[in-house]
Amino acid sequence: HAKEAGRGQFHFYTEAMNRHTQAKLALENSLHNALERDEFVVYYQPQASLLSGRLVGAEALIRWRHPERGLVMPDEFIPIAEENGLILPIGEWVLRQVCRQIRAWLGDGLPPLTIAVNLSARQFRQEDLVERIRGIVEEFAVDPACIELEITESTAMEQADITVELFRALRAAGFCIAIDDFGTGYSSLSYLRRFPVDRLKIDRSFVLDIADDPNDAAIAHAVIKMAASLGLKVVAEGVETDAQRQFLQERGCDYLQGYWYGKPMDAEAFAAFVRTALGKGEMPEA
Ligand code: C2E
Ligand code: MG
Ligand code: MG
Ligand code: MG
Repeated sequence: HAKEAGRGQFHFYTEAMNRHTQAKLALENSLHNALERDEFVVYYQPQASLLSGRLVGAEALIRWRHPERGLVMPDEFIPIAEENGLILPIGEWVLRQVCRQIRAWLGDGLPPLTIAVNLSARQFRQEDLVERIRGIVEEFAVDPACIELEITESTAMEQADITVELFRALRAAGFCIAIDDFGTGYSSLSYLRRFPVDRLKIDRSFVLDIADDPNDAAIAHAVIKMAASLGLKVVAEGVETDAQRQFLQERGCDYLQGYWYGKPMDAEAFAAFVRTALGKGEMPEA
C-alpha cells in the first residue's frame, strides 16, 4: 500500500511539475514576441518627501498586458527575461519609454520629476552600459538628473569593485543612483561607504511589521541612522499604513513609496495624480 501511495504521489508530483514547466514555457514563448507586439506598459508609483509630504518623483514599474492572461506582474516574467537575456531589450524599452514620457509630461506643462528605473543584474553587467543609457536619454533630450537608476543590493555587492567604478561613471554622466531592496543582501559597510550613490531603498519586508516588531523597527532605525551618517537619503518601500509612515517620519526617514501614498498607476493616471498634488499646493520639489 505504502509503495502504491508513494508511486501515486510521485505521479502527482511530476504532473504538477510538468504543468508548472509548461506554463513557464508558454509564458517564455509569448515573451519573445511581447516587445514587437507592444504588450508592455510602464506604471508609475509616486514617492513623497516624509518631511514636507510633497510629491518628489516616481518609480517606473513594468507590466505585461498579455492577450490571454491579462495584466502579468514583473515578478512572474522579469526572472524569465533575466534568464534568457530578453531583459536587455526589455530594459532598454523601459528606459526609452520613461524618457519619452518625461518629454511628453514636460510638454504638457507638468513640473520635472525624478523617475526611478530598475536595472537588472544582466543589464548592469553589460559592457557598454553607460554609453547605452547615455545614448537613450540624449535621444530624448532628457536631463540624466531626472533619471534614478535602481540596482539591488545583491547585484551591487557582486563584484563590488567593478560596481564602484560603474557607479562613478554613471554619476559622472549625471544620473542618480539608488540601492534597491536594501537589507536583503549582504552589504559590507566598507563598500557601502565607497559606493557613490544618492539613496538607499529599505526593502518592503522590513517596513511591513515596523510598527509592531521591535526587530524590524531596530533594523529600519539602524539603516536610517547609518545612511544619514554616510550622507545618503533613505526611501522606505511598501509603506501601507499611517502607523508605518509615522514611525518612519519620527526616525528621520527621508522619503516613502507605498500604497499609503499611491499605488503604481499608468502614465495617464499618474499625470492626474501630479496635477492633483499641484492643485493642493504641493509643488513637486524635484
Ligand atoms: P522593486 O523594484 O523593489 O519595486 C517595488 C515593488 O513593491 C513593486 O512591485 C511595487 O508595486 C511594490 N509595492 C510598492 N508599494 C507597495 C505596498 O505598499 N504594498 C505592497 N504589497 N507592495 C508594494 P512590482 O511592480 O510587482 O515589481 C516587482 C519587482 O519587479 C520590482 O521590485 C523589480 O525588482 C522588478 N521590476 C519591475 N519593473 C522592472 C523593470 O522595468 N526592470 C527590471 N529589471 N525589473 C523590474
Ligand atoms: Mg525598484
Ligand atoms: Mg525594492
Ligand atoms: Mg524587489
